[in-house]
Amino acid sequence: MFRMPEELDTPVHLLGARCGACGETFFPRRTFCANCSSDQMNEVELPSHGIISTYTIVRQQLPGSAMVPPYPIVRVALEGGTSLQTVMVDCDPEKVRIGDPVAIVVHRIKDDEAGNTVVSFVARPADGRTLSHV
Ligand SMILES: [Zn+2]
Repeated sequence: MFRMPEELDTPVHLLGARCGACGETFFPRRTFCANCSSDQMNEVELPSHGIISTYTIVRQQLPGSAMVPPYPIVRVALEGGTSLQTVMVDCDPEKVRIGDPVAIVVHRIKDDEAGNTVVSFVARPADGRTLSHV
């Protein structure tokens, strides 16, 4: 879903798919276009920034999840129109608002039993951008 960045917690370009027939872009990648059913899907790097279009706060521990509640799950409208859903880190869950600018970064989630670092893409407040509610 992304190429491993050299540094964690820096903005990353997720890999999506753009339809060669109608131009619609999807994340995660698809084999067939959900808009026109074409199989001419090409890999594209998605923008690393967007805004929160909606969110919810997780308040209960989910089985098997390394995330400690409360934390937000946000729907992010990326620059250019593609959207995705992910966990948001480095924020006060009670202060997350629709319209907040975020960056997509690769974040360390946990170390597994074998000592491997488990990473995933997450949203975090965009550096250097003023949040509307601060
Ligand atoms: Zn299409």
